[in-house]
Amino acid sequence: MPLLQAETLSKDYVLGTNVVHALRDVSFAVDAGEMVAIMGPSGSGKSTLMNLLGGLDTPTDGIYRLEGVNVAELAADALAETRNRQIGFVFQSFNLLARTTALENVQLPLLYGSMEKARRRARAEQVLAEVGLADRMDHHPSQLSGGQQQRVAIARALVNEPALILADEPTGALDTRTGIEIMAIFQRLNADGMTIVIVTHEEDVAQFAGRIICFQDGRLKSDAPAPRTNAADLLASWPEDEQAA
Ligand code: ADP
Ligand code: MG
Repeated sequence: MPLLQAETLSKDYVLGTNVVHALRDVSFAVDAGEMVAIMGPSGSGKSTLMNLLGGLDTPTDGIYRLEGVNVAELAADALAETRNRQIGFVFQSFNLLARTTALENVQLPLLYGSMEKARRRARAEQVLAEVGLADRMDHHPSQLSGGQQQRVAIARALVNEPALILADEPTGALDTRTGIEIMAIFQRLNADGMTIVIVTHEEDVAQFAGRIICFQDGRLKSDAPAPRTNAADLLASWPEDEQAA
């Protein structure tokens, strides 16, 4: 059974008398352990698709199954539980709480569960260390670089041990090298078994995935294997004068 299964998904937005066909008859499946890039120009339906895959919205037509379950049929509390437990979200704009430390930001998704305070803290410290931020846990977002803020967001996405990470343009606000550092983290997580779906409009970013699905005007245009360029190798051979301080 695939982890994700989209069957003839369509999504229309009605704006007055105008209907926008954001997604049209989209079908594909993603197996556990895959790293997939979703590509396409602006307006092609990428974010609409991510919202459906993340259970943040429902399709106008078609069926979306997560681990075999039709997400549209889940009751509100089961859907909220699924989103919080099964899916880690990462966004272009990081979406961290400003007046809150990295450690507190990462603990937020744990507050909905029954984990006791000391264990919540230990778990958050563990995932922050995994993304290389062991020495920045008490910093607020404004005291961190863009790349560091995105690492905090990735740690927050990981803290509940989700089955899937959905990232919408995660490198879109970062310089090239920092973006590759973020992709290196995603590749390491994927090598450890995490399923990852990343939206990007940048060809260079998509090359780090093992598969690229292209959208145009809401339609799935192509679905093909990708080279899986090794981000860590690329960073190791980065020009000396551009190495991070
Ligand atoms: P992408 O992420 O690829 O840039 P989107 O999924 O954001 O594309 O948008 C696809 C199409 O749907 C666009 O034409 C966009 O204007 C439209 N759209 C997206 N969200 C909404 C919405 N909430 N209401 C109306 N139209 C929307
Ligand atoms: Mg978008």
